[in-house]
Order: sequence, then C-alpha cells, then structure tokens
Amino acid sequence: MKKIVIIGSGIVGICTAVELINRGFSVTLIDPNEPGSQTSYGNAGVLTDSSLMIINNPQLLRSLFSLIFKRNTSFRYSKLFVFSRLSWVINFLMFSKKKHMEIAAKVLRELQVLSLKTHKKLIKKTNSNNNIEAPGWLKVFKTQLSYENYTYELDVLDKNKAKYTILNTKQIKKQFPDLQIEYYKGILFKNSLRVKSPIELSKNYFKYFIKSGGSFYKEICEDIKFINGHWTVLLNENKKIFDEVVICAGPWSKDFLSNLGYKIPLAWERGYHHHFSTKKDIDLGPAIHDVDGGFVYSCNKNEIRVTSGVELTFREAAINEEQINDIVQKLKTILPLKNKLTKTPWLGSRPTIADSLPMIGKAPKHKNLWFNFGHNHIGLSTSAGSGVVIADMIENKKTSINIDLFLPDRFIL
Ligand SMILES: Cc1cc2nc3c(=O)[nH]c(=O)nc-3n(C[C@H](O)[C@H](O)[C@H](O)COP(=O)(O)OP(=O)(O)OC[C@H]3O[C@@H](n4cnc5c(N)ncnc54)[C@H](O)[C@@H]3O)c2cc1C
Repeated sequence: MKKIVIIGSGIVGICTAVELINRGFSVTLIDPNEPGSQTSYGNAGVLTDSSLMIINNPQLLRSLFSLIFKRNTSFRYSKLFVFSRLSWVINFLMFSKKKHMEIAAKVLRELQVLSLKTHKKLIKKTNSNNNIEAPGWLKVFKTQLSYENYTYELDVLDKNKAKYTILNTKQIKKQFPDLQIEYYKGILFKNSLRVKSPIELSKNYFKYFIKSGGSFYKEICEDIKFINGHWTVLLNENKKIFDEVVICAGPWSKDFLSNLGYKIPLAWERGYHHHFSTKKDIDLGPAIHDVDGGFVYSCNKNEIRVTSGVELTFREAAINEEQINDIVQKLKTILPLKNKLTKTPWLGSRPTIADSLPMIGKAPKHKNLWFNFGHNHIGLSTSAGSGVVIADMIENKKTSINIDLFLPDRFIL
C-alpha cells in the first residue's frame, strides 16, 4: 500500500488526508500544532459554493486610491511589507483583469460546488450536523450606491449559475429583527452553510481520519529529501520514509518549499476576530457580510464572532488592534454587544497566490510531490474539493473537475 504523508493539518490537510484514507492509502499527517488550530481556527465559518469574486478583480484598480490613502475598515497595509514584496504586489495587481476574473470565477465555482457536496457528505459521516446553520451566508449593503457597485459580482454569479435571493430592507428587517440598523439590500445564499465552530469541524473530520486508520505526528517537519525513489521526512529528532508527500502548510508552504528550490508567488492576507457577548438573546442564522465595512459577523448562542478584512503585512508582525477595533465600533451600532470575550484579537494569515487561485497539483520539479495550498479567503469552502482533486491525481485518474488553472506549473517556479 502506498504510504503518503501530508505536511500541515489545517482544514486543507485534514480534508486531503480523509479523502486519501477513504481511497485505501496509508496516510500520515504531520503538524507541530493541534489539527485545525492555525488559520483554519478563527475564520467566519462560511461554507459556500458562491464565493466567486477574487480580491484582485477589475474593480480593485478603481478603488486602489481610496484603499491606499483613506482609512477604511476593509483593508490595512504596511508600507514596508509592500516595498519588501513589491514583485508579489505588482504580480497580484497585474491579475486584476476582466478576463482573469471570468476564468477564475468559472474554475472556483466548479471547485466550490464539488467541495460543498463533499463537505455535506463528511458532515453527515462525522455527525457534525449540530455544528451547521443553513442558509449560511448573507451579504448586506448599507446604501444604494454600494449595492449598485455590486452589480458586477451579480453578473459573475449569474454567468456561473450561482443561486441567491435578493432581499429588500423590509425583508431583511423581518428575517433578522435583531439588527439595529437598516440595510438597503441583502443577498442571501441559500445553498451556503455556516459552520458554527470551524475548529470543532476540523476536530471531527480529524477524529474520523484517525478512526479510519490514519496516523498523526505532532512534530514540525524540518525538511523533506527525495532519496532512492522515496521521500525522507526530517522531523525534530527522527526521520520517516514515505512514497508521496502532499504539502498543505497554508501560509507556511512557501518557506518550506524554498528549501527545495521553488519560488512560490505566495503572500498572506492577515485577518482578525473578536468574540462578544450580547445584551439580550439574539438569533441571526447566517454569517452576515457587511460589504460597506468589509467585515463579517455571526452569532452562536448569543456569542458574536466578528472577523476583519485584510491586513497586508509581515506574517509574523505583532498584532495591530486598530483595524478590528474600528470594526467593533461599527458593529456596536448594528448589534447590542455587551462584553468582549476575547482579551486580544485572534489573528490568522490567509495564504494567497498572486493570481488568487489555490495551487493544487503535482510539483513541477519533483516526483511524487504534491501541492495543496493558497486557498486565501475561501479555504474552508474549497478544502474538501481540493482533497478530492489531489486524490484523483495521485490515483492517476481524470480529475472530477477541470483543474488546469490550479496546477502549480501555471507559474515558473
Ligand atoms: C479572518 C478570516 C476569515 C475567514 N473566513 C473564511 C470563511 O468564512 N470561509 C472560508 O471558506 N474561508 C475563510 N477564511 C480562509 C480560511 O480560513 C483559510 O483559507 C484556511 O483556513 C486555510 O487552511 P490551510 O489548511 O491551508 O492553512 P492552516 O489552517 O494554516 O494550516 C496549515 C498548517 O500547516 C502547519 N505547518 C506549517 N509549517 C509546518 C511544518 N514545517 N511542518 C508541519 N506542519 C506545518 C501549521 O501548523 C498549520 O496547522 C478566513 C480566513 C481568515 C483569516
């Protein structure tokens, strides 16, 4: 039986491990941290087949001036980081073209549809139903202007046959009476789910993996070397031999692969969350994306989680509470917040490839080495589908969806 090792046990690594073990491989996960405890821990919980707009879409260039020069809650950046990663930033901006947006939306839709279907099966198998809300995602707009600016995204959704319902002010008020402000319009994605606790979902999938015969080493993988047709994985004090390696180390994948001579065009879009209790019982259901403010909030048993937009800075830079604190001020006008339950904000780093598409497939320079990382803002949603696709490729089967745009060799690495 082929022995496969997966480096990194975030939601992407776990889903890949589950898929491979279900197909009869011997599978080992390696991570110095608890499964699902890094970027996958604190996200907004949106599990969707309809997140098709990449950040570097044609509208980005038009809003660039205001993003750079005006203080806003959706985006913050460090000048030093931008200068030190200028080639990544320029590369990222160069992808902000209509043509790229169109093909990206098409392939992301296919990946997300496959992924949502696979997640639904896993949710059932792992008895995770009580961790799921449906429908799970609502986008809301404060003004007519912000809604009008959204017509481009509606067009992209329509072209890719994504399903949504438009709500007016009255309907939003009726369905979500706890909201203290009036929104002009809302877009409800009825097919989408909300994971109430992303870490519990990771834990459940991980338990299922172990129960199915998988192994886990809670150790850092220092390096991997291809020797005599096999991969030697160097751990802290010992080494292990495997037939195939899958790299699922999220925002750390780049550092890891530079040892093997790869120049991965990956950076990270950091994001924060805070938790609050509420002054009265409230019931929201879906995660709510306040498009004007660029933040997402959701509620479990009167505990609110609010997640921030993007902070572009060094991965290991100190926490900067400014952005999330500004968001909290806005949220206080929307919901009756009481006490802050998180002393300092949680911080995660969304791993982002310059073209905003994940890198899924065979490593261009090595045998039996596979990449599955770079899932940026949508890694919870795309994780399960990416596992299916990697498993198809390892089995040398035709992949369930067209993956040309995800293949690592789309870049010269
Ligand atoms: C604020 C915020 C909100 C978000 N909201 C959503 C959302 O609503 N819906 C959605 O779909 N996505 C969302 N995302 C994105 C999503 O969380 C990420 O895309 C996803 O978690 C990435 O998963 P991953 O497994 O690739 O990375 P990670 O979860 O970071 O896992 C990578 C793992 O690799 C391990 N690792 C690193 N180096 C090594 C090494 N040398 N040896 C062994 N292991 C190693 C790390 O310890 C880690 O556990 C959000 C992200 C943020 C930050």
